[in-house]
Amino acid sequence: MSFIGHKLTDAELVSAVADGRFTSDDKSRRARALGLERILYVCRECGISRHITRADTLRCSICGCTAKILPSGELEYTEGAKFATLRKWYEYQKEFISTLTPDESGSTPIISDTVSFDDVTAKKKARILRKGTLSLFSDRLVIAAPNGETIDFSLKDTEDVCLSGACGINVYYGEGVYQFLGGRDFCALKYVNLFFRLKSIARGEERAEYLGVQE
Ligand SMILES: [Zn+2]
Repeated sequence: MSFIGHKLTDAELVSAVADGRFTSDDKSRRARALGLERILYVCRECGISRHITRADTLRCSICGCTAKILPSGELEYTEGAKFATLRKWYEYQKEFISTLTPDESGSTPIISDTVSFDDVTAKKKARILRKGTLSLFSDRLVIAAPNGETIDFSLKDTEDVCLSGACGINVYYGEGVYQFLGGRDFCALKYVNLFFRLKSIARGEERAEYLGVQE
């Protein structure tokens, strides 16, 4: 079975990468890596990052290190070799996030992205923000509109953050459900994983056993 990454939902992609089924028949290498930027966000050199995919390669936007995806789902690097397969990379990422202890001060976001935003439970008229910058801090999620208006979702009162289709998350906060949708390269998984890690830190756990995604 083979996969064209950019046609799958995030949950389907996670499961294909996590159990080693992600392979490609695309001999032309045109779309082999597309979609993987939504799943692989921890760089082997610089930690939490953002990957850019083109044809059959993933490149870290911070340090520029590049991995080429072979049709088998194995990886090839220009310098050295770190992970033999996508699955090994994913396992490293999970372990990295499970034990991560972010900056406690809460003044700098851990991650941040431009998204569109909806309060799924509100009547149309009550929807206040349409576009904004979503930021995850160690104790809260914040959506900030271009006019400076912000809404805070304290992690303490957030029940759940889960993947929604491709490039989206649903946030369950109080009685409401809020949906954040990013662009085609938006990595929703990092918000879900980090939310569960931050919740586990709040419970005093050294490592998170569950990062919010069924594989
Ligand atoms: Zn890097």
